[in-house]
Amino acid sequence: MDFAFSPDQEELRDRAASFAFRHIRPAVAAMEAAGLPPGELITAMGREGFMKVRPVHSSEPGLGHLDRVILLEALSRRSAAVGLLMVAQLMGIAALQNFGGPALQEAFLPPLTAGEMLVSMAITEPTGGSDPAGTATRAVRCGDYYNVSGRKVFITNSHLAGLAVVVVRTSNDPRRGLSVLAVDAGLPGFRAGHLEHKTGLKGCVTGELVFDDVRVPVANLLGNEGDGLAIALKAISEHGRLGNAGVALGVMQAIFEETMAVCADDPRAGEALADIHADSRAARLLTYRAAWLLDAGQRADAEVATAKFFADDASLRSAGRAMTIAGGSSLVEGHPLERCFRDSIPLISADGTGDIQRIVAARSLVGRFD
Ligand SMILES: Cc1cc2nc3c(=O)[nH]c(=O)nc-3n(C[C@H](O)[C@H](O)[C@H](O)COP(=O)(O)OP(=O)(O)OC[C@H]3O[C@@H](n4cnc5c(N)ncnc54)[C@H](O)[C@@H]3O)c2cc1C
Repeated sequence: MDFAFSPDQEELRDRAASFAFRHIRPAVAAMEAAGLPPGELITAMGREGFMKVRPVHSSEPGLGHLDRVILLEALSRRSAAVGLLMVAQLMGIAALQNFGGPALQEAFLPPLTAGEMLVSMAITEPTGGSDPAGTATRAVRCGDYYNVSGRKVFITNSHLAGLAVVVVRTSNDPRRGLSVLAVDAGLPGFRAGHLEHKTGLKGCVTGELVFDDVRVPVANLLGNEGDGLAIALKAISEHGRLGNAGVALGVMQAIFEETMAVCADDPRAGEALADIHADSRAARLLTYRAAWLLDAGQRADAEVATAKFFADDASLRSAGRAMTIAGGSSLVEGHPLERCFRDSIPLISADGTGDIQRIVAARSLVGRFD
């Protein structure tokens, strides 16, 4: 068993940590107040090459799965909000790269990977996000276009993205009724609606997308008509959930370091620190191994789901423990531990709740059940 990062991965970890210290740390207070990331931060991350995803079955340069976890952990050590907006960005880029046609890729991949444009991945609808098979947003084919109507809610990067990768219903077939369309935010009838004001992850924009008879070219279809559920599930598992676990690792590292700083002289802190450290290391092992399996070309849905629910729960547990030890000052708005606590809560729902992760993991343990 080899637990070492490659020299390239060590370089990425150190560069991302240094970037996060220099560019994200000073921006956190403004992001908390405005609920927005600074535009120049997004382009700076693009310039660093943080948005170049390695296509599947390819040796082209770009981030593999473990690289992505290393990056997200380092960025999220300073801001989980930046971590989560990057999860959506990398998920959208990967979907386009793996399933988009050449013209679509040519039009959108350069600005997306340069950080000049954000992308959103829109699956969740007002009736609930846990079951994408319930998608009601309709795309009706009319010649070379689809007419798209419906609503998506709780979408990361909603109001900032120039492109939305959207799961739509193209037929009532229970297995092949869904498809995925890349929708240019400039198309008539497409708008961002309600903006959410979340408990935490402030600085990562979450909101509604409204489609009112939007004419989307058929060339913007990802994969084939009917591939939607498979594309969505792959994106959620390999990019959303794994990335989300990477974000939680960064939050836990922040909690550990803050607790060390605040409680170094407190004799009661030793046990809490040992627990936080154990949780954080266990979450790392689960997440790194799931990423390693994906990089080795294996399916790892159960491993990813386990890493996600464990890391998210451990992050919330650790934040609560740290605040109990650190006392009153850590309960005040703006304290790093208070922010870590607030950020840990929405992470549990984003990319699929803990309940759903446990169902995915349990299916692989005891055989399929519904
Ligand atoms: C910060 C944040 C960012 C997000 N970003 C995006 C995004 O970019 N794109 C996107 O499409 N969505 C996004 N979401 C939505 C997210 O994916 C959903 O919140 C999640 O899938 C859960 O859906 P829901 O909240 O509608 O809950 P529901 O699906 O309505 O579920 C409600 C409750 O019932 C439980 N439940 C549901 N089904 C079952 C079951 N079969 N067995 C046991 N329990 C069950 C759930 O665990 C939950 O506790 C984001 C959410 C958050 C909080």
